Formats: sequence, structure tokens, C-alpha cells
Amino acid sequence: MQIYNTMSRKKEEFVPIEAGKLKLYACGPTVYNYFHIGNARAFIFFDVVRRYFEYLGYDVTYVQNITDIDDKIIAQSIKENKDFGKIAEKYSNAFLEDCERLGIRKPHYQPKATEVMDEIIQIIDAQVKNGHAYESGGDVYFDAESLPAYGSLSGKKIEEQMAGARVEENKLKRNPADFTLWKKSKPGEPFWASPWGEGRPGWHSECVVMSQKYLGETFDIHGGGIDLVFPHHENELAQALATTGKPLANYWMHNGFLNMEGEKMSKSLNNFFTARDILDQHSAEAIRFFFLSKHYRSPIDFNKEIIAESERAIGNIYQALKSLLSESSHSPSDLLTLKISNQALLEELNTFKAAMDDDFNTARAIAVLFDLTRIVKNSAQTLSDREEAAALLLQAGSALGFFQNLDILVEAPMPDLSRQLIDLIISYRAKARADKDWAQSDKIRDDLAALGIELKDSKEGCTWTIKG
Ligand code: AMP
Ligand code: ZN
Repeated sequence: MQIYNTMSRKKEEFVPIEAGKLKLYACGPTVYNYFHIGNARAFIFFDVVRRYFEYLGYDVTYVQNITDIDDKIIAQSIKENKDFGKIAEKYSNAFLEDCERLGIRKPHYQPKATEVMDEIIQIIDAQVKNGHAYESGGDVYFDAESLPAYGSLSGKKIEEQMAGARVEENKLKRNPADFTLWKKSKPGEPFWASPWGEGRPGWHSECVVMSQKYLGETFDIHGGGIDLVFPHHENELAQALATTGKPLANYWMHNGFLNMEGEKMSKSLNNFFTARDILDQHSAEAIRFFFLSKHYRSPIDFNKEIIAESERAIGNIYQALKSLLSESSHSPSDLLTLKISNQALLEELNTFKAAMDDDFNTARAIAVLFDLTRIVKNSAQTLSDREEAAALLLQAGSALGFFQNLDILVEAPMPDLSRQLIDLIISYRAKARADKDWAQSDKIRDDLAALGIELKDSKEGCTWTIKG
């Protein structure tokens, strides 16, 4: 499998640290508001990375943090005139709810920054003690010049940052490139006791601690949106190097932006739609389809018409599956485990895997889902080939996070005409019974049973059900 590594700026063969295992960390939200549909791109994409590795048989550990202490949360708590903890709780619950609605599987661990405060203080203390950080006026800063590798992820040189920075920006820092590990609290702000006085941690220290706590000193993949490369990920990496001497992750993956008319969708530009608003208008699978139709590193322009088209595309796939299932004796869950033997379909499977193994080319993988849908619909093919195509469609689609609700594939409402026909046939059987023509009555019951229609006789008459 090839993965584009932001560190080397090229695709590299993926080699896990431990064979058959994937340790994955992706940055979660800062919970000061409802997240927008641009954030959803990052959350959905890393859900796909997790799902695809699981589909390949990897034992995956996926960790995503919740940043529940940050300047933005404090600002929002002042705006809503509520305790900052209440604000963080309100929006982290909303985050979990919206992720569930988006069909994002719960990560194995979802730590909150405030739950790991002791570990955060320890890692900052270690950096102060080994000379990579210094205390200044109750704040603690990382000394960027103390680490020769600083800038290796983003390619930003310390000198450039010094030249670009205004001298008066922060007098407590020795160097404009230095970044905050610990911030002294102002009166009225939330705080934790520390060796440097009362304060709160910087965002970068939170993530390095939460990732290493569950995944170890070095793990396989660290992900997030492209805006996180600098300063967030650069500064997480710096702290790992400063404390363990080892890289934080072997592969750094970053998704491109969801844009609004060419500009990044963001809270600060106020050009966003919340994920929950979009979920009120479109299904989760249409939203997923919209994102996965493009490569994850390409920018995407938000476009409601294209989401509506995605809705139709996914609807057509469902329709094809439903109509095949109505002819087939297999249930959807049978198909999920059906082995594929047809040679042409095995080639489709290879194309799907080759696309996904080529740095998660979901756009090409979705083209395979369309090919399979055509085969499922093609009445010139045998039923068993169409069943295998449907099986592959369900299996590959599930690896991308589609078809989460298999029930809707079989609960197709029966047209009224079918009900009337069944009632008519039952009335003929009632007539046979009245005439004591048991042979005819039994034959009608058995013929209906062969079609999955079960009859039940009682004093009140005959009722019928369709066997699941
Ligand atoms: P935040 O809560 O701002 O830290 O963002 C959470 C995740 O969403 C991070 O991985 C960001 O990089 C990502 N993100 C933010 N804005 C966008 C956008 N417009 N398009 C794609 N990803 C984004
Ligand atoms: Zn992070």
C-alpha cells in the first residue's frame, strides 16, 4: 500500500510498526461550537482509513482527541455566559451526536485533554528539565532553536519565522518561532496548578500526550486537515523529539480543504454550514459519497447540487441491490460474507483494492462500485453472477462506510397489488376448504410457503406473513 507522507512529500510504501496492526491518530475537534461540514471531511476521511485497514484484516487502534480546554472555548463561554466546562460538555456531546449521524464509527479511544492534565504537565516539565523549554512570566515556551530538526514536517525554517515576526509580538518569548506549552491563566479563567503556577496547556502539548498515551512513543499514522501541518503537527513532533528522541509517527496524512467559493470553509471566515444543518437536508451516505468522489488531498468546493446528485447516485445503487435481493434467496448479511469466485468480478475487486492501496484513491474505488451496480442490474447475466456482484458491491462499499443499514435493503414496501393477489389466492383456498377439498387447500398453502408466504389458520380466518 502506498501512502502520501507529508514528511517526505511523496508516496511511500506503508510498513506497519507491528505486522498486521495499525496505530492511527487523527486530530479531533476543539469543542467550542457545532462542527462544520468542512471538519466533517477530515472526520469522515480518517473513518475511511480506519475502515479500509480493518477490511484488509488489520487490528486497528484508532484514537481521536477532543480538545476541551482552549482559548476559543473560554471566549465562547464568555459569549454564552456559561461556565467553560459546560460549553465544552455541550459541544463535545453535539460532536459525538453529529459523528454518529454521519455514520462515523466511534474511535477506540476518544480522550479529552482535561482528563490527561497530569501527563501534560509531566511532558512539559520534562522539556523544561532537558533544556528544550523555558519558563517565562508564568508561561512555558518550547525553545525551537534547541531542536535542529524543528521545521522538518512543514519545511518552515526558524529564520523565516524570525524575519516574518514582529518584534513586539510577545516579549516573553526568546525567539518568535518558540511556541507555548503552558499558558498562565488570567483572573477568572479556568486553571490547573503546575510547577510554573496556575495556567492551562497549549493545544500542541495536549495532542502529543493523548496520542502517545494510547499508541506509544511512535505510532503508524498521524492525520488531520492540511491546516494542521503547521504549527500544530510540527509542534507536536517537536515535543516528541525533545522528550523521546524518536519521531511521533511514521506517516503524516493530511486531507485537503472543503472550500466555499475557493476559500477554506472556516468558523473564522464565517463561510460555513454546520454538519447538523447539512444532515437535516441530506443523508449521511450522500455526504460521504460527495467527499469520497474526490481524492482526499484535492480541494473540494462545497456544492449542494453535487450533494443532491450524490444522493441520487447512492439511491440508484440501493435500488439495484433491493431489486436483486427481491429475486435472490440470499439476505444482505449472507452477501456480506459470500465468497467471490467469478473471474471478472475478482478483477473488479483487484481494481478496487489497487485504487484504495494507491494512497486511498476513493474516487477510483467509487467508479468500481458503479461498474458493479451495472452488473447487478444486468438481466443478461445469471442470477448467481449478479448475486456475486451485489456481494462485492456490499463488501467494498462497506469498507468505505456505505450500507450501514442493511435492513432498508429488504424492507421494501410491498405494492398493494401483491397484497390483493395474496388475499385473492387465500380466498380460493377458503373456498376449497369449505368444499372439503383438502388436497387443493394444502397445495395452495404449500405453493405460497415456497414463495415465503406463511399462512396461519385460526377461528377468525386465515392471516399471512412474509418470512424474513
Ligand atoms: P478544528 O476543530 O478546527 O481543529 O478542526 C478539526 C479537523 O477539521 C482538523 O483535522 C482540521 O484540519 C479539519 N478542517 C478544518 N477546516 C477544514 C476544511 N475547510 N476542510 C477540510 N478539513 C478541515
Ligand atoms: Zn491535534
